[in-house]
Amino acid sequence: MPSILWFRRDLRLTDHPALVEAAATGPVLPLVVLDPSQLVAAHAASRDYFLASVAALRDALDGRLVVRVGDPRTVVPAVAREIGADAVHASRDFGIRGETRDADVAARLQGVPLVHSGSQYVVAPGRVLKDDGTPFKVFTPFYRAWLRHGWRAPAATVTPQWLSLPSDDTSGFRPIAGLDIVAGEDAARARWDAFRAGGLQGYRELRDRPDLDHTSRLSAALRFGELHARTLLADLGDEPDHEKLRSEIAWREFSGHLLHHFPQTATAALNPRFDAMRWDTGAIADARFDAWRRGQTGFPIVDAGMRQLATTGWMHNRVRMVVASFLVKHLHLDWRRGADWFAERLIDFDFANNQQGWQWTAGCGADAAPFHRIFNPVLQGLKFDPDGAYVRAFVPELRHIPGALVHEPWRTTAARDAGYPSPIIDLGIERDEALARLREIGANSAD
Ligand SMILES: Cc1cc2nc3c(=O)[nH]c(=O)nc-3n(C[C@H](O)[C@H](O)[C@H](O)COP(=O)(O)OP(=O)(O)OC[C@H]3O[C@@H](n4cnc5c(N)ncnc54)[C@H](O)[C@@H]3O)c2cc1C
Repeated sequence: MPSILWFRRDLRLTDHPALVEAAATGPVLPLVVLDPSQLVAAHAASRDYFLASVAALRDALDGRLVVRVGDPRTVVPAVAREIGADAVHASRDFGIRGETRDADVAARLQGVPLVHSGSQYVVAPGRVLKDDGTPFKVFTPFYRAWLRHGWRAPAATVTPQWLSLPSDDTSGFRPIAGLDIVAGEDAARARWDAFRAGGLQGYRELRDRPDLDHTSRLSAALRFGELHARTLLADLGDEPDHEKLRSEIAWREFSGHLLHHFPQTATAALNPRFDAMRWDTGAIADARFDAWRRGQTGFPIVDAGMRQLATTGWMHNRVRMVVASFLVKHLHLDWRRGADWFAERLIDFDFANNQQGWQWTAGCGADAAPFHRIFNPVLQGLKFDPDGAYVRAFVPELRHIPGALVHEPWRTTAARDAGYPSPIIDLGIERDEALARLREIGANSAD
């Protein structure tokens, strides 16, 4: 009997448990549903990445991928009826809307089962708990328990008999973010192989350096399931660099775990004291937000990061922390404004990772950096981009300023002459202001 494999956050053909399940019972129709209500400008970069990844999957299937447009609640049951499917297979989607959407689809399938196998995580959220059955809020014990729990080996590679049907016209889904996107399982696999042969050596020491190529850059591939994290873990050994990468992959698992157990963190701080935090609003706040967004703050590492985001759709993790800290602790703007901008511009935008990353940096999430620890963007630049190469790569006005001086452009007239802005705030004054506001809400370093 034919079945459907409904692809969502799993746009690949290897290490795919749901594909193995589907292929075991007969021919398989590969289906993607483009839901216009989800493919929105508010998520422009990841929307474009998804569409590019769907196109790559269609190529990998020699055009047999069936792409339909509409609400999956109506499209999936309609395709199931069209081919007389005996099951719809899918990976479980722990995304913010995934579980309710799937429940709605299952209810409309009129007896055809929606079978979930695997998910975007190595260990499904909800499985790793403390001994007393409650969820972890601190990463290190979560990590230890996650390691103890263990995970399956990669799924076998299968070659099903693929079925196909005509696709809908998708010519209306043009790219809108203006990015140069390379997507797809083959590209992701090539990046992983190149990283294993190169940047992985030294990852533990050098992953914080945005001027070097020592991180995998696989976040968008993992977000859309072009590669499964389990595939990466199976290639890792016990060396310190490998161990460090395993723990970073576990941060992704921790984010999924937190959103699953604390769904209120989709919109609110995990630490409720932060509900009372005084964030700036009004014309000056808006102008500052705009300067941050456009990479025009006058602080080179911040501006380089925001311009890397604008031009490539990706930003180095260290710089994500620096720009987020600057927005929240020096500009006193609500972390949710920054999270929304990242959601629009990141090709790897992932709700769980983004909320967790912002709350961690703002000091209001689980196992967060304390609010009172405030990154000085100049010192961060000098430490992690010691020769200034990262700044020069993304801020053309500063390209002619040599070495580390690029992190303090106000020490030369050359930057202003080239049109680079003066700092929009005084770091010392705003740092004191942030600490005063922290005292107002009664949060301290232990929170
Ligand atoms: C404010 C802020 C917002 C963020 N928003 C996102 C987001 O929307 N999507 C996203 O995938 N990551 C997000 N991150 C986490 C992290 O910055 C990126 O995953 C990482 O920079 C991706 O680069 P990479 O693939 O080269 O990472 P690598 O260092 O090569 O790590 C391998 C993989 O591990 C995972 N990972 C690494 N670091 C983290 C982390 N701190 N938290 C969770 N997972 C991690 C990612 O899937 C990554 O691809 C955010 C971090 C911060 C501070």
